[in-house]
Amino acid sequence: MTAPPGAAHRAPIGATPTVRRRLALQRPRPLLVRVYAALFSDGGTFGAPARRRAGRLLLRSLTPAVTVGTGGLVVLGAFDAAAPGWPQTAGTAALAAALGAGVWRRTARAAAGEAATLREQLELGALFVVAAYAMAQTASAGHVDSPLQPLVYLVMAFLVAFLARRIGLALVVIAVALELLVWFGRGGHAEELPSAVVRAGFVTLFALLYHAVLAAQVGSSRRAEERAVERRVKELEERAREFRLTASGTGAPAAGGDADGRWTVASVLEVENAMRGALEVAEVALRSHTCAVYLLDDAGERLQLRECRTASDSLARGVSAREGALGAAIARRTSVRLHGDVKVATYYEDGARPGALVVVPLIDRRGGYVRGVIVADRREPIPFSDEDEKLVQTLCAEIFRALEAERVMGDIKSTRDEKERFYDAIDLLNRTRTPDEVFRTITEVAGRIVTIDAAAVTLVEQDGQERAHRVAAVHGQRLTALAGKRVIGGDGLVQKVVEHDTTLPAASVDPARATLLDASSSLKGLGWVRVVPLRAAGEVLGTVVLAGVARDRAPSVDQVRQLEVVAGQAAQSILRARLYEEAERLATTDGLTGLTNHRTFQARLDEHLALAARGGQRLSLLLCDVDHFKSVNDTYGHPVGDEVLRGVARVLAGEARQTDVVARYGGEEFAIVMPGTDAPGAGVIAERIRERLAAVTFQTEQGPLRVTMSLGVATWPEDGAKKPELVERADACLYHAKRHGRNQTVLAATIRAHRRAAG
Ligand code: GH3
Ligand code: MG
Ligand code: MG
Repeated sequence: MTAPPGAAHRAPIGATPTVRRRLALQRPRPLLVRVYAALFSDGGTFGAPARRRAGRLLLRSLTPAVTVGTGGLVVLGAFDAAAPGWPQTAGTAALAAALGAGVWRRTARAAAGEAATLREQLELGALFVVAAYAMAQTASAGHVDSPLQPLVYLVMAFLVAFLARRIGLALVVIAVALELLVWFGRGGHAEELPSAVVRAGFVTLFALLYHAVLAAQVGSSRRAEERAVERRVKELEERAREFRLTASGTGAPAAGGDADGRWTVASVLEVENAMRGALEVAEVALRSHTCAVYLLDDAGERLQLRECRTASDSLARGVSAREGALGAAIARRTSVRLHGDVKVATYYEDGARPGALVVVPLIDRRGGYVRGVIVADRREPIPFSDEDEKLVQTLCAEIFRALEAERVMGDIKSTRDEKERFYDAIDLLNRTRTPDEVFRTITEVAGRIVTIDAAAVTLVEQDGQERAHRVAAVHGQRLTALAGKRVIGGDGLVQKVVEHDTTLPAASVDPARATLLDASSSLKGLGWVRVVPLRAAGEVLGTVVLAGVARDRAPSVDQVRQLEVVAGQAAQSILRARLYEEAERLATTDGLTGLTNHRTFQARLDEHLALAARGGQRLSLLLCDVDHFKSVNDTYGHPVGDEVLRGVARVLAGEARQTDVVARYGGEEFAIVMPGTDAPGAGVIAERIRERLAAVTFQTEQGPLRVTMSLGVATWPEDGAKKPELVERADACLYHAKRHGRNQTVLAATIRAHRRAAG
C-alpha cells in the first residue's frame, strides 16, 4: 500500500503549536483580565478608538479653552508686569502653545489645499486677539494705556483683512467686549471708561479702515481675475463656434480619405480641448475643489466621467445616474445647489463630503434629452452664488456644443463607413464578367444601401423602329409576374425612366397608382418603388427596379443618389460584360460563318473525346469539303463563294443536333463533332446534310447555283483511339469520297469492309 503524497510530513492533529494556542484561548479568562478587556479593548471605555476620540475632542477644545482662559487672565490683569508671576507665566505658555499648534495645523492644511473653515478662522482669530491684548498688558506696567496697544490694532487690522467678513466683525465685537471687560476688571472706574472706549473705538476704526483699503485691493485683483475668466469664456465660445461651423459645413470634410481622417482627429482633439478649457475656467472662477463632466451612457443608467479637474484622487469613473446630487439634477432637469455638510456627492469613492456643490444638467436644446451633468464643489461650506451657477450653465452650453460637434463627427464617420461599403459594392460590380452576374450583383449591392423586398432589371432592345423593354432578371416574390416579359412601347415607369434618363417615381407617389411596365405589372402591396436608369456611355441601357413593402423604409435622397451611382456602375459593367462576351465569341467563332473556329474546334474535340472515354460512349467525327469550290469562286466571284460558304454553314448547323459542335475546319472544309453517335447514326446525319445542301439553290447574278459536298466519317474508338488518328481517318474517308465521284458520304467502316472484301 502506498501513502498519499506528502502524508509522511504531516504532524499528528492536536500537536501543532497553533492548535495548542487556540485551545488555550478557549479556557475561561480570569475576572481581572475581563475587566481590563472591558475597559481597554477596542470597544471598551478606554480602548484605542475611545482614546483617539477623546484626544480629538481635547485637541479641538484646546484653542477655545486657552482663548477663554487667557482672556479671563487678561480681564483680571494677570499679564500686567506688576501682577504675581505664575498666572502670567502659565497664561503666556498656554497662549504660545495654542498659537503654535493653531498656526502649525493651519499651515499643514493649507499645504494640502484645504481652506480654513469659519470655525477655525474664528478660533484662531480670537486667540490672536487675546494674545495681542496679553502682550499689550505685559508692557502696560499697571497703567491703563500700554505702549504696545498699537499691536492690538495691527493684529485686528490683519485679521479683518484676511479672514471672512463675518469673522472679522465677530473679532471686532470680541475685542471691544474684551476692552470693556478689562476696564471692568480694573474696578470699573468712571475716569478710566473714556480711555477704554477710545481704545475700543480705535480697534473698530482700524478694522474698518484696513477692511476698506484691503477690500478695495482684493476687489480690484478679483475683478482682474474675473476679466481673465471672461476672456477665457469668450475664447471658448469662439472655439465652440468654430467647431459648429466646421462640423456643419459639409464642404470641409470633402477631401479624400487621408485628409478626411486627419480632419476628424484634429476636430476631436479640439473638442477635448474645449472641454478641458471649460473645466479650467470653472476651477479658477469657482475656486472649486473638484469640477467634472459626467456623461450618461446609452442606457441612461450610469454616468461616466468624461473630463475633470480635481485635487481629489478618489473621483469615481462611473456612478449611478439615479442617485445623489447628480441623479437629482438629471431627474429634475434643473441645476442643484447644496451647501453645508453635503452627503450626496456620490462621485467620491471615499465618501468625501464637500462643503458646497453645484450640479448643472447638460440638456440637448433640440431633443430635450439629458446627456450628462457638470458638477463643481468646494471643500469649505461657501455656497455657490447665482453668478457661479450661471457660469457653470455657460460652460455647460460650451461643453454641449463640443459634444454636438463630436456627434456630427460621429455621423461623418458612419457616413465614411457607408462610403467604404459603397465602394466595396462598386468593386464587386467591377469584378462581374457576364450580364447575368451583373444582374445578380446589382440586386445584392442595392440591398446593402436600402432594404429591398423585390428587384428587377430591364434592358432596352431596339426592335427596328420600335423600342422594346425586356425583363432580364427578377428578384423576390413580388415582381415574379414580370419574369421573361418583353414589352414594345407603353408608358410605364420603366419606359419613362429610359426616355427621360431619371429616377422615378418621386417619393410622394403611391406605388399602387403607378404602372411599372404594362397594365399587367401590378405594384400592389408595395410601400415604395424606385426605377433607376442604367446609364453608360451616354446611353440608357435599361433600368433597375427596386421595391420594398415598408413605406417608411423608402430610400432617402442620399440613398437614391447612391443607388444611381451604383446603377451607373452596373450599366458600365453590363456594357463591359457585353463586350467581354463579344470578344469571347469573336475569339471562338469564325467570322464568315459564325461557326466554331478551327482552334476552338480542336479544343472541343479534345473535351468530347475525354468525355466519351469516361462515359464509354461512341463519338463520330464528320469532315466535309465543298466540291469544285475553286470553280465557284472562278465563275461567280469570291463574294458568291462566301455566300455559298454561309449557306453551307446554315445547312450544317440546321442538321446538327444541339450537342454537336459544328466548325469551319478551314477554307471550304467543315467539321462536326457528334458526341454519343455511332457510325451508322453519323452516316444518316451526313447523308441528310449532303441531300439538304444539294437541294439548296443560291441565287446569283449569273443565275441559280447549286453546290454539292463530299463527306467523310470516322468513329471513336473503332476508327482511331487517339485524336490525330481519328481526324486522319475522317480525312481519308473524305479523300476517298472525292476520288470516287464526290457528292457522297464515306464511312471509315465502309472502307474497312471494302478492304476486307478486296484483301
Ligand atoms: P475539290 O472538289 O477537289 O475540293 O475541288 P476544289 O475546287 O474545292 O479544290 P480545293 O478544295 O483545293 O479548293 C479550295 C478553294 O476554296 C481554294 C480557295 O480559293 C477557296 N476558298 C478557301 N477559303 C475561301 C473563302 O473563305 N471564301 C471563298 N470565296 N473561297 C475560299
Ligand atoms: Mg478544299
Ligand atoms: Mg473543295
